[in-house]
Amino acid sequence: MTHSARRPLIAGNWKMHNSLAESVALARAVADVRIGPRTDVVVAPVFTALSAVAQALVGTPVGLAGQDLHWEPKGAFTGAISAPMLKDVGCSHVIIGHSERRQYFGETDESVRNKTLAALRSGLTPIVCVGETLAEREGGITFEVIGRQLDAVLNACESSEIAAMVIAYEPVWAIGTGRTAKSSDAQLAHAFLRDRARHKHAEAADRTRVLYGGSVKADNAAELLAQPDIDGALVGGASLDAETFGRIIRAAG
Ligand code: PEP
Repeated sequence: MTHSARRPLIAGNWKMHNSLAESVALARAVADVRIGPRTDVVVAPVFTALSAVAQALVGTPVGLAGQDLHWEPKGAFTGAISAPMLKDVGCSHVIIGHSERRQYFGETDESVRNKTLAALRSGLTPIVCVGETLAEREGGITFEVIGRQLDAVLNACESSEIAAMVIAYEPVWAIGTGRTAKSSDAQLAHAFLRDRARHKHAEAADRTRVLYGGSVKADNAAELLAQPDIDGALVGGASLDAETFGRIIRAAG
């Protein structure tokens, strides 16, 4: 399957931003963007706004994502939210293993694997984040790090699950810093990740979408999205402004 046969996905990660009213207003503004018929769009508000944003998005092409989940369906896990609960509130996707979760909340390759399996087996599409830090890049171990992070997930998955998941390559040094990976460097990392998946299940890996994340903006999106193994974008800061996010969406086609 070629680049153009994979539907681009543009995901907005709103992180810990926006009140309920602001989240609903932003969701409505995103839903007003002219979205190409072949482009998928999801937004990931804070948990407390999921229900209201779900209502605001009914009847629109914009999907809803959680920013994290727990792998157990229910139980004594104070502060956590499960895959069935995200489904219940209207989510189709969930971000897993974002570098901020790995860095500040003790997320490990093992918890990322458990969460990914829980999402897949509840019918949610996981957006599994991998990426190297600046020290790792400068130490020449980028591929070793992202390969290890991805293998932790792939080794536990069936081929259909590999095809269904979304991978997000997010170099940590590019997140929220205004420093974007060069499109040619990003392409190399994406091709490496797809190849890694191909080693597990050749056909499935052709269908897996690999998003780029890290300071994607309206003026660099088109060049990144034109790369043969970049199938969309996970957007942080620039997704908080509907006009800017809309320009990124339109860059996808
Ligand atoms: C992100 O949070 O996933 C991200 C890529 O952030 P930003 O676009 O702000 O770098």
